[in-house]
Amino acid sequence: MKPVVTARYLCKSYANQGKVLKGVDIDIRQGEFVAIMGPSGCGKSTLLHLLGLLHAPDEGSIEILGQDVTHLRQDQATLFRRNHMGFILQSNNMFPHTTVYENVEFPLIYRRVPRNLRADRIHGALDAVNLAGKVTAWSNNLSGGEQQRVAIARALVNEPQILLADEPTGALDANNSHSLMEVFQTICKRDNVSIVMVTHDSAMAQYCDTVYTLSDGRVVHSIS
Ligand code: ADP
Repeated sequence: MKPVVTARYLCKSYANQGKVLKGVDIDIRQGEFVAIMGPSGCGKSTLLHLLGLLHAPDEGSIEILGQDVTHLRQDQATLFRRNHMGFILQSNNMFPHTTVYENVEFPLIYRRVPRNLRADRIHGALDAVNLAGKVTAWSNNLSGGEQQRVAIARALVNEPQILLADEPTGALDANNSHSLMEVFQTICKRDNVSIVMVTHDSAMAQYCDTVYTLSDGRVVHSIS
């Protein structure tokens, strides 16, 4: 499988924090499901933010989809993210008083995809997260697990090659967490999307192809 992310010797400090990342190497292939684990404060979210081009590393390099993205300007990084990446957070940020369909349509309106091309993509994304039966439901009436799946469909509708997820099961019960992991696995294997997920839950990491464990800003363990 083709390399999607090649990150070398990533270092990052924050003011008054010292070095949070101290030389992290990470390799992600097409269709790979990757977990980043480790104790609170070890730098998991910082690493995810570097991979998502939300911050630049102080040292090291990041190549994504064959492009050196280490020193992109902010507007270039925004465009790169919009074209290639989706983000899923712990809280799913549904737009209130809207249907499931409208929630998933929003990124397509934002990208000026013509209306006649939107429906197929919206239905495809909702199929992928097993929500085909909820197209016309009001988002406020969905369970937490269903809302999180709408958030994933909203990220998928842009057809990203990479999904970055920060504790996506943090607000879900065990059943919903496990179904979400099955959805992620399907998206990786069927659609060849690479997923990088920060989690502190080893039961969720078991669904992944590769697990990177961070401690004090370094990778101490990587299991494929
Ligand atoms: P984790 O996700 O593993 O809990 P983080 O990457 O969120 O760890 O944070 C690692 C360290 O960096 C923590 O000590 C945190 O307080 C600090 N940190 C994270 N973001 C910032 C920021 N924007 N400014 C200053 N310190 C930060």
